[in-house]
Amino acid sequence: MAKKVVIIGAGPSGLLLAHYLLKRGDKYRVEIYERLSDPRTLPFARVRTHPVTLNERGLRALRHIDGLVERVREIGEDVNGIVLHYQKGKYNQAPRKSLLVTLDRTKLVIALLESLTNLYGESRLNLFFNCQCQQIDFENKALRFRPNSEKPLTLIPHEFTVYYDFLVGADGARSTVRSHLLGIDLFECDQKYIAADYKPLNLTVPDECITTIIAKDKIHYWLHRQNTLLVLQHQRDQTMSGVILFPRQYSQVATFISVAEVLKFFHKNFPEIGKFMTEADAETFLNRPPSRILTIRCNRYHHEDHVLLIGDAAHAVSSSISQGCNAALDDVFVLNNLLNRYADNLKVTLLQYSATRTPEAHALVNLADYAFMREGATHPLRYRNLLFEFIGREFVIKTLHRLFPWVFPPSLVDLLFDTTVPYSEIWRKYKNWLHQVKN
Ligand SMILES: Cc1cc2nc3c(=O)[nH]c(=O)nc-3n(C[C@H](O)[C@H](O)[C@H](O)COP(=O)(O)OP(=O)(O)OC[C@H]3O[C@@H](n4cnc5c(N)ncnc54)[C@H](O)[C@@H]3O)c2cc1C
Repeated sequence: MAKKVVIIGAGPSGLLLAHYLLKRGDKYRVEIYERLSDPRTLPFARVRTHPVTLNERGLRALRHIDGLVERVREIGEDVNGIVLHYQKGKYNQAPRKSLLVTLDRTKLVIALLESLTNLYGESRLNLFFNCQCQQIDFENKALRFRPNSEKPLTLIPHEFTVYYDFLVGADGARSTVRSHLLGIDLFECDQKYIAADYKPLNLTVPDECITTIIAKDKIHYWLHRQNTLLVLQHQRDQTMSGVILFPRQYSQVATFISVAEVLKFFHKNFPEIGKFMTEADAETFLNRPPSRILTIRCNRYHHEDHVLLIGDAAHAVSSSISQGCNAALDDVFVLNNLLNRYADNLKVTLLQYSATRTPEAHALVNLADYAFMREGATHPLRYRNLLFEFIGREFVIKTLHRLFPWVFPPSLVDLLFDTTVPYSEIWRKYKNWLHQVKN
């Protein structure tokens, strides 16, 4: 009989996992519960979202499902490098060997949802939006949900219980499934806030205004003006979107109270794009509350043969190294390989999953920690110096690798973005180097 899989969270990892499990034939039927509304039915402007850049780790996982990578490329923008912007209009370009794709997280989610519902009918796949998982009883394999909508769905009773055979927590950094696992013997989780907050930013930049300085096929970084890091990517709809990250205690960004202040700040500190900011853009930016970034490190990702954590629920990291979504999609790829190897025996598969994935996720958190220091450790000056030191060393390693590839490995950033070399191997190679930078 088909196992009933309940996935909490219709984010990139939960939806891709549904694809993979359903592709395995009649062994599984899937129910997905998401606390937010169906993004396919909402006006895009109402969705709180951000762009994600996918590299080979994420793209490899998408490739397993027919047509997904093609769809992602259709709605995303290809990126072949980055531009680092300094003061007074100076900038440096750094090309990438492999093509990355940047797209909005919500658009990725919609693409995954559309292809799921095109492929599978209700006998195997059921989606429930506006349903928030509240309570979990692992012993009886029972979940308690609360409808999460101003207008409760007529088909769903006030609060309701769902039973499962296999439960997957794909419910993001503040995972409810993970918090229930904390009550279980020997499950440990270390969660820390990054000392920087972020706010999303969207600007309309008509194609005819694009110059080399804000080239379309690059990710743009403005480094630490007014203690901030601004990251922007072009999107298909003639906008540039991204985020501004700022140390909570030291940045003006946290204290804006008027549209005029926002406009002045962007005109002064980021003139290359500030000139495109309209009053409406500034108002949207002003009204968005800052978000905090959590990092998560667990000692395992499963419970017996019936609970699993994947994606941000298992290993949320800072967005500064653009790996979170890639790692989340890669989790699904790894799990599928283990299901193949152990013939869908969940007991062995989940055990092996934790054994192989824990060192990878810990290495990822370590790598991301070096891009952003943790709570209490940040001072803007130290922080800026650290970043310049990092970039300088990265440049030296790249040059040495080009000249003596048999002695020097590819640079840290190249390994992260251009390869699928395991994070644990990258961390082993660069641990001492990163410690030196930090010291
Ligand atoms: C500003 C920013 C920029 C980023 N840039 C990049 C990038 O360039 N590249 C990259 O690889 N990654 C990037 N990331 C990280 C990336 O967005 C995440 O790693 C990725 O979205 C994780 O996917 P997920 O499916 O595991 O979790 P999520 O995307 O967080 O999805 C979890 C889902 O679960 C739902 N949920 C939560 N709790 C419940 C509940 N109790 N009941 C029901 N549903 C629930 C949520 O509503 C959500 O839809 C960025 C993140 C941020 C914040």
